Amino acid sequence: MCGIFGCHSQQSQNLVEQTLQGLKILEYRGYDSAGIAYTIDNQLKVIKSIGDIDQLKQKVINPPTTTTCIGHTRWATNGTVSVKNSHPHLSTDSSIAVVHNGIIENYQQCVEFLTKHNIKLKTPVDTELIPNMLYLLSHNKHNIHQYLQGQYVFCATDKQSNSLFLAKKGNLPLYIGRSLQTIYISSDTLALPQTVTHIIAMEDMETCEVFDHQLQFYSNGQPITKSWQSFNQSFIASDKNGFATYMEKEINEIPAIMERIINTYRKDSTIIRLINQTRTQFKQTKCIHLCACGTSYHAALILAKIIERDLHMRAIAHISSELTTTTLLNEPAIAIVISQSGETADTLSAMDILQQHKIPIIAFCNVTTSTIAKRSQTIFPLLCGPEIAVASTKVFCAALLVGCLLIKDYNTISCGNFIENTTKTLQFARKILSAPHKIPHRIFIIGKDINHVLALEAALKIKEVTYLHCEGYPANELKHGPLSMVDDNTLSIVFGDDATNASAEIQARGGKVIIIPTPNYQSDPLAFIHQIIPAQIFALDLALTLGNNPDKPRNLAKSVTVL
Ligand code: GLU
Repeated sequence: MCGIFGCHSQQSQNLVEQTLQGLKILEYRGYDSAGIAYTIDNQLKVIKSIGDIDQLKQKVINPPTTTTCIGHTRWATNGTVSVKNSHPHLSTDSSIAVVHNGIIENYQQCVEFLTKHNIKLKTPVDTELIPNMLYLLSHNKHNIHQYLQGQYVFCATDKQSNSLFLAKKGNLPLYIGRSLQTIYISSDTLALPQTVTHIIAMEDMETCEVFDHQLQFYSNGQPITKSWQSFNQSFIASDKNGFATYMEKEINEIPAIMERIINTYRKDSTIIRLINQTRTQFKQTKCIHLCACGTSYHAALILAKIIERDLHMRAIAHISSELTTTTLLNEPAIAIVISQSGETADTLSAMDILQQHKIPIIAFCNVTTSTIAKRSQTIFPLLCGPEIAVASTKVFCAALLVGCLLIKDYNTISCGNFIENTTKTLQFARKILSAPHKIPHRIFIIGKDINHVLALEAALKIKEVTYLHCEGYPANELKHGPLSMVDDNTLSIVFGDDATNASAEIQARGGKVIIIPTPNYQSDPLAFIHQIIPAQIFALDLALTLGNNPDKPRNLAKSVTVL
């Protein structure tokens, strides 16, 4: 989490405005506070604000042109949300400014080291260690990784040299982009301007110095050379396409994405070859482990059920952060990891464990240039385009469809029918579901089998954007405990018609029930994929009724790159 953006050019330019534009696009990564630092007359000017980038912009009045600017949008991990704690952080002599993503784990040890050199920190934020360590290391700064533990990326600038200094340890993303006149640094290629023609990704244990449109890389303190990759920015991130929120736009894109996936997965020769190769691997193994977090974990749970049902083999869905060496049996296995961003730190840690066990990894990723994609043997793209809203909607449906098409041909399914049904579900959701007039105190969502997993995902969506207490539950389990909480302030959403007893039990205790009926699985065996849409729309409507911004729920950020 946290978004880093920076730029450097030989000639003075409007780099402050460009940094603010870049940060606005990176806002999905964190938005509790933000800040910039730029060089002017051999001094560093720092402007910080709590809240989002628009609040920061109000503090940046008539910015001058400059040759170096760095910026940050924060998702606090160490130290509360305050102007003082937000980035950039300065060295003791105010000569070096740093923006940082990640956590420095040997905080105490570094504080002791700095104290010995009479440096006292002004905040409890781990980031503040970095400019001070750079200050002490001076010309030796390419050895910074020897002093800092944890996973991090950072970008520093200093008041004299008009250059940028970058470092990366672990898996967090940091890209460098090049246009004719300017070098850009960004946590995500999405934020790079359309003038950028080439990029380079920072790798583990590297540092890089950017000066005079040149880059000098070091790996473990030793100079190395790296080459630029060509890049074409096709996406204009601010485009909500007429919708009021990204979440609404992204839900409405689902039918078109489903069509794109079916066409690509049935016609693209490279993907067909990968599917055939993977199916052969499935036949030669005993178990499939699926690892993911949050919404992607719910997709993994459903796909595990479908693998067991259709392939009659063992499939286990794991929450990535719960996977331990002991949860893996030493038997032939294959893993599928699912991640929208491809940068999810918990899933990358799970991949370390899978790799220790020599388990081949297949990735379902929306961002195919991501670290997870790079570290996997096979990548199946989710083809959703950028997902900006923090609460994932379209990528959930995409992961399910890609998984199903990999498991089985589903040749009987006509693409046209499936898309028509998806569109109908979307229209139906609009008609029957809108935010309730009376805001419930608690919400239970129930269902059986796959519908139970849909209930878990629906509850997560509602929690993320409404902040209301909402639980997904297996329909028949309600009476074994949670029914005690049901009263006339309780709302229940029931997935499927096979949970009628549970619905009746809720209604008998004054709870209100909304039923999302079972589709006709004969005509559309993959209908469970679009059955989640009504719940997504319900969550969106309820969030808007409560006055919340569904695109940026409090305390959350997309692309969870911290452990
Ligand atoms: N540890 C830093 C802070 O709390 C960066 C957090 C992050 O990257 O999410 O500001």
